[in-house]
Amino acid sequence: MAQLSDDCFAFGGPMMSVDEAVSLIAASVNAIPDIETVSLLDTDGRVLAGNVIAPLPLPPFTNSAVDGYAVSSARMMNTAEQTLPVVGRIQAGATSCEPLKADHAARIFTGAPLPPGADTVFMQEDVRIDPSGKVILPPGLRQGANVRPAGEDIPQGGIGLQAGQRLRPHHVALAAAFGLTHLKVVRRISVAVFSTGNELASPGEARAGAQLFDSNRFMLMAMLRRLGCEITDLGIVRDDPISLANGLKKVAGECDLILTTGGVSTGEEDHVKAAVESIGTLVMWRMAIKPGRPVAMGIIGGTPLIGLPGNPVASFVTFVHVVRPTVLALSGALPEPLIPMPVRAAFTYKKKPGRREYVRATLRKANDGALEAIKFPREGAGLLSSLVDTDGLVELGETISQIQPGQSVGFLPYASLL
Ligand code: AMP
Ligand code: MG
Repeated sequence: MAQLSDDCFAFGGPMMSVDEAVSLIAASVNAIPDIETVSLLDTDGRVLAGNVIAPLPLPPFTNSAVDGYAVSSARMMNTAEQTLPVVGRIQAGATSCEPLKADHAARIFTGAPLPPGADTVFMQEDVRIDPSGKVILPPGLRQGANVRPAGEDIPQGGIGLQAGQRLRPHHVALAAAFGLTHLKVVRRISVAVFSTGNELASPGEARAGAQLFDSNRFMLMAMLRRLGCEITDLGIVRDDPISLANGLKKVAGECDLILTTGGVSTGEEDHVKAAVESIGTLVMWRMAIKPGRPVAMGIIGGTPLIGLPGNPVASFVTFVHVVRPTVLALSGALPEPLIPMPVRAAFTYKKKPGRREYVRATLRKANDGALEAIKFPREGAGLLSSLVDTDGLVELGETISQIQPGQSVGFLPYASLL
């Protein structure tokens, strides 16, 4: 299990910026050293445990990029057409390939090995065939045109995939191109998740009049799944410090991360802080983020704990900025900074400088073709429809105090956040 010292998250300021929190996590959280070997098809979403060195060059042999005619550039003309007899027909997968005779062209197809002596391929669309079957080549083609030299993609012995890479389908493709059937990956990070609140009922259970169904836990578990985690669902814990402390004590040491939602404010019925302090060390983060603040982070018996706020949108946004980098750090993944893409604001907004704000927005294409962000009309951090009916978050940095329509702003699509 992940072992952290009790003071590893200690920090000085009363309000931590998002960037400070992310750097602190990267510097304090140790990667899990456990590795497993999994078959290629099961590697999507997993974190690569070591570099994958190219066991062969890619492409493995020099081949034609087009259907056409292979020639030796020594025979090519700069200014005049030339006519060559066509000898040989080389298909993709050809097992034997005669050397190209001087003053000849060979019929060749995409992916077929270039015959010895040939170094350039004319596309079939660019040539003519004369009545005797000879090929008429236009002048001016550069040497090496339409040829894919062995190793042009990745040389043998080069680093194909880097340790810490979170694997996606194109990384899987590269491993397959190397002929690999299995990869060594970091074992899944195990996360114990529970919600806190007397007002919560689990879907499928009876719901009393003043209760609502627990939506955060299912959102957070789904988000954790996307990060490749293994989840222990601890359900709902009542708002009392003893149940909370007992719940936490039970799972600490048995998972890599404890994730809770709700009960982290400083209200009388917010007991996560007291429960953690009674059995571990809690660093209360008043993170300078809206929606979000407060977010708690602590250590119980060496196991990190993150306590997210209860409002669903605050829970979502703080997951992205605190839980995501923690899970990546625990799994030894390369940092994946969130890079907002510039779009044009189609709204007016006022904010307090000194904190970062995320505005839920929908994208649309304006008449001039530019992408515009339209702010969701309501602001409550409890509105699930504000996430469901939008495409992503406009990020407004700490120094910004207002946004006018037409201004460029950074946009993070939901799809890029996990
Ligand atoms: P808290 O952070 O516990 O003060 O909760 C803030 C608001 O979020 C309250 O209105 C809660 O009812 C709501 N809330 C807390 N936990 C959840 C949850 N798991 N699912 C949906 N709403 C929640
Ligand atoms: Mg609560």
